[in-house]
Amino acid sequence: MEKNLRICIIGGGPAGLSAGMYLEQKGYENYTILERQDRVGGKCWSPTYNGRRYEMGAIMGVPSYYAVHDVEEFCGITHDGPKLNRNYKNSQGQVIEPFEPKKNLLKIPRLLKMKKQVKLFGELLESKYKGYDVNGHRGVAEGRYEGFSQQSAKREPVSGENPNLKDLALPFKEFCRINNVDLVQDIWIGPYTSFGYGYFDEIPAAYVLKYLDFQTTMNFVKVNLWTWKNGTQYIWEQLNEHLKHPARLNSTIEKVERRGGKVYVTVNGQVEEYDKIIVTAPLYIPNKRADGQVGMVDYFDTRDDERALFSKIDYERYDVQAVLTKPEDHPEISYYVFDNMVPQRLGHLMVYYRRWKDQIDQVITTYALRKHRDSEEIPYEKCRQMVQDDLKTMHNPAREVINEWSVYYFPHVFSEDYASGWYDKVEAMQGKYDTFYAGEIMSFGDMDETAEYSRELVERFF
Ligand SMILES: Cc1cc2nc3c(=O)[nH]c(=O)nc-3n(C[C@H](O)[C@H](O)[C@H](O)COP(=O)(O)OP(=O)(O)OC[C@H]3O[C@@H](n4cnc5c(N)ncnc54)[C@H](O)[C@@H]3O)c2cc1C
Repeated sequence: MEKNLRICIIGGGPAGLSAGMYLEQKGYENYTILERQDRVGGKCWSPTYNGRRYEMGAIMGVPSYYAVHDVEEFCGITHDGPKLNRNYKNSQGQVIEPFEPKKNLLKIPRLLKMKKQVKLFGELLESKYKGYDVNGHRGVAEGRYEGFSQQSAKREPVSGENPNLKDLALPFKEFCRINNVDLVQDIWIGPYTSFGYGYFDEIPAAYVLKYLDFQTTMNFVKVNLWTWKNGTQYIWEQLNEHLKHPARLNSTIEKVERRGGKVYVTVNGQVEEYDKIIVTAPLYIPNKRADGQVGMVDYFDTRDDERALFSKIDYERYDVQAVLTKPEDHPEISYYVFDNMVPQRLGHLMVYYRRWKDQIDQVITTYALRKHRDSEEIPYEKCRQMVQDDLKTMHNPAREVINEWSVYYFPHVFSEDYASGWYDKVEAMQGKYDTFYAGEIMSFGDMDETAEYSRELVERFF
């Protein structure tokens, strides 16, 4: 493509900013990033309390976050945050050690079986499901893999046929069942459901395993994780500062029209002309959101194929509260509550995060899901109260809530749409209306998968 193409990027989160970086590195310098908020980072939101930044959104990375590492190198920063650590409690608030055989004599057979299944699962993923961990979902529903290997920072192009990959459309629970490895869910659930990505009986295995590939899961098990002292938002603030064209904040896009090979974007009342547009903002939001956020189908001259496909997207209702406690009620560490990570305990506290170990006058953040595909959504206020009650049960009651949000989280499609080739249909539309689709839905809802998808989009089409 012509290097002086005028490219509009919607969204100044990880996907949009990294698209700017990779375009710039490839010689495309005529790009504009439009961000609707007064800050960059999107779901990487790290406000300050008492002189330190806490996390309302993304918290951590793993050593295989190659795209995030590209950004770190581009900006000359590193993952210099506090070491993560956690313990476990049951739903009655008692500290437990679910993986320690000596503390669970009756569970020893199950723990041994689980260990065996984890090993077997690792082997299955490498052999039967070869190609499962490629970023994005191209070809999976047809039994192919196509993309860039995530096994090393080189990210070599890879492709091949593997009919077994079609199994990845199944809900993860079913996927484990057909492979006789049900117990691996005990390990995968910690960094999956409690991080807001839904329940194993509803979410296609593809999402679970592209995010939690074997290597990444083992990094979680060994707590080999990255954090950033100034928060994950800092990564994207730094990137924004280092880009030739930082994001234009407070950009309200009223209309996008695509005609005659040009893209006309009406932003803050002015019409701007571009040659191509990359959308990293939500494509579709099924119901009206309290924060006024809308999907692209609402402000674009959307075509029938875009509307038909994007209306299949659902998302998680994932709520975060930032609370203060009395000093004597401050938790000594972060806690996972496995009992609450099942659909029957929808709306309950699944995890709470103590970020700063050396300071008790700091924020604790809480996490809960309040929607499962097969049940009614729990209203926001009710879930908020349930979490507060749970904190009391955990012996760490909140004194005050100082921040909260219910975020548009982890857009995804369900098994039937995944299996019928939703991703290949959307991939076939890339560029069709001078429009490219990126961001979470195209890969997975974490910082690295989204930034990596932007890297590959630039590699493939520009
Ligand atoms: C509570 C929580 C915990 C998380 N934990 C982790 C974690 O530990 N590790 C991890 O890797 N990831 C984590 N994530 C996920 C990660 O933050 C997201 O996957 C990532 O930020 C997605 O990047 P994105 O650019 O695709 O989308 P977003 O971050 O959502 O950015 C999209 C941007 O587009 C802007 N936008 C939207 N609509 C418009 C419009 N119409 N016009 C202009 N701009 C628009 C938004 O304001 C936003 O800035 C977490 C997220 C949350 C909320």
